[in-house]
Amino acid sequence: MKKRIVVQKYGGSSVKDADRIKAVAERICSYKNKNTDVAVVVSAMADTTDDLIELAAKITKDPTDREMDLLLACGEQISASLLAMAVREHGCESVALTGFQAGFLTNKEHGKARVEGIDGKRIKKAFKEGKVVIVAGFQGVTAEGEITTLGRGGSDLSAVALAKAVKADVCEIYTDVTGIFTTDPRKVPEARKLSAITFDEMLEMASLGAQVMQARSIEVAKRYNIPLHVRSSYAKEEGTMIVKSVKHLEEVAVTGVTSNKNEAKITICAVPDQPGVSAQIFNAIAKAGVSVDVIVQNVSHTKKTDVSFTVPKSDIVKALKATEEVAKKLGATDVLHSKDIARVSIVGSGMRSHQGIAAKMFEVLAGAKINIDMIATSEISISCIITLDKVDTAVQTLHKAFSLEKGK
Ligand code: ASP
Ligand code: MG
Repeated sequence: MKKRIVVQKYGGSSVKDADRIKAVAERICSYKNKNTDVAVVVSAMADTTDDLIELAAKITKDPTDREMDLLLACGEQISASLLAMAVREHGCESVALTGFQAGFLTNKEHGKARVEGIDGKRIKKAFKEGKVVIVAGFQGVTAEGEITTLGRGGSDLSAVALAKAVKADVCEIYTDVTGIFTTDPRKVPEARKLSAITFDEMLEMASLGAQVMQARSIEVAKRYNIPLHVRSSYAKEEGTMIVKSVKHLEEVAVTGVTSNKNEAKITICAVPDQPGVSAQIFNAIAKAGVSVDVIVQNVSHTKKTDVSFTVPKSDIVKALKATEEVAKKLGATDVLHSKDIARVSIVGSGMRSHQGIAAKMFEVLAGAKINIDMIATSEISISCIITLDKVDTAVQTLHKAFSLEKGK
């Protein structure tokens, strides 16, 4: 008989101290039996990664990417080792593996490496020996033997990649919230837990600022159709399934509201309005390794135009440097920037078959006296860039206007 394979991922808050680690070990052991193998991916304890980043910043302004990855990968190795000990204390044989030992091969892009494959030999061997496998998330190794990390929140990606590699029957993502909500329940108490959401919606929510799961991990889950179950490690209740399609969602236009305060805006003033200019600007920014989000180009009246775009706040220095260089080449008059902006978005697969959703969003924002700076849309989302201090109000107001607390 084929054994069932369960992959579980525990986030940093689920293993934040010894007591939580013991509680997680108990849960893991409740899954393991002679017909079920369990592989666990674990994040670093609580704020460990942030603390390590801060520590490095006290030592140098300019750490090498290589050493930074080596440093950050330690966080997950601590939690994996401790969790393996706790699981053994609980009576299940277990083995902790670093990403390297677990066979996570990545490309060389330190800090945001891509998983190229998993050599599952070591994991399969451990399963054969009846062991629960605990893998340090967020990390891998290059063909040259360099330790890499997969980008913030990367343990989710480790879990999804592992679920694919071992052909898991279930992939559970344990966190400190009970599932995916219509919006952030810490900010809007009326937020409602969704029983299911599609990969596409989750992808939009994750990249637009809902911080429950890393966006890249959802992309991979979607590509290989790996259903995910996001749930709390503090409770028994079922969480939210992330799946290919959810039937009832056709009836509602909007599934969730998100916000993102981590963007900044750059404007290049008076660049020539002629072919090739945008290409030149955005090539320069891409070369600086910065990804651009919303882009707006104004109509030109004088053969000159302003181009505005948003970038992650954390990349603003790099982005400004690249923009100023290209602005000079193009003869632009000025480069402006602002960090006091935020994005508010509504998301829903149902938008494909509903009209007037954008109009309603703009009306609601207007009603709350919130000015819209930039607008971006996708097939299943509408985003507005507004001033930072209005964004919480915008989320609350939109959540109410689209009756998300009620659901259907
Ligand atoms: N510890 C890493 C981070 O905080 C990876 C993760 O938690 O998934 O970003
Ligand atoms: Mg984390």
